[in-house]
Amino acid sequence: MSLFFQQVPLGPMANYVYLIGDHACKELAVIDPAWDIAAIRKIASEHGFTITSALITHGHPDHINAVEDLLQQENAKVYMHKDEVPWIEGWKETAIATGHGDAINIGQYTVQVIHTPGHTEGSQCFLLGDKMLSGDTLFIDGCGRTDLPGGNAEKLYYTFTDIIKNLPADIMIYPGHDYAHDKCQRLSQQLQTNPYLRAHSKQDFLSMVQPGFKSL
Ligand SMILES: [Zn+2]
Ligand SMILES: [Zn+2]
Repeated sequence: MSLFFQQVPLGPMANYVYLIGDHACKELAVIDPAWDIAAIRKIASEHGFTITSALITHGHPDHINAVEDLLQQENAKVYMHKDEVPWIEGWKETAIATGHGDAINIGQYTVQVIHTPGHTEGSQCFLLGDKMLSGDTLFIDGCGRTDLPGGNAEKLYYTFTDIIKNLPADIMIYPGHDYAHDKCQRLSQQLQTNPYLRAHSKQDFLSMVQPGFKSL
């Protein structure tokens, strides 16, 4: 057992930051570094890890507002989808642009990039074995809002029908926010209870996706 995986609730907006590490080489990736870099560093050092990379699901502030703090001390690689990079400021030149199907290595582990536009143009999910970190694309029994700049409800519909529903049903969904009774759930269960995955048609889906979701 040399995989380190931790779901860390952080900040005032019920975000989840995730840590993926390889105990063998002590490399640690932070998924969506936000809110409290000291808390993230503390967990890393307690387990003897060096933060070597940051993987970004999308560019909303509640998912990236600690990237600059991270880069001030750590020589970390920051991975962000190529369609999302143009939306950010500050560390744009530092970002390593990713594309659908790319593989990102964390020690001996490989994370697969899945481009999932809809919540934002360059939203991406990360697949690590049977775990999928879904950012604000898919929540437990919900989905990210589509009315912010770069959002597109129709694209999110096709992300669900053409990408998410084609993934193995036994993967565990780890969302970007704690908005539900469960911290994670299998895709198979979400296919039964998530109204956005259950939509019968595009029209059905679009009628459900209304402004006013509480997420960023
Ligand atoms: Zn968001
Ligand atoms: Zn968010």
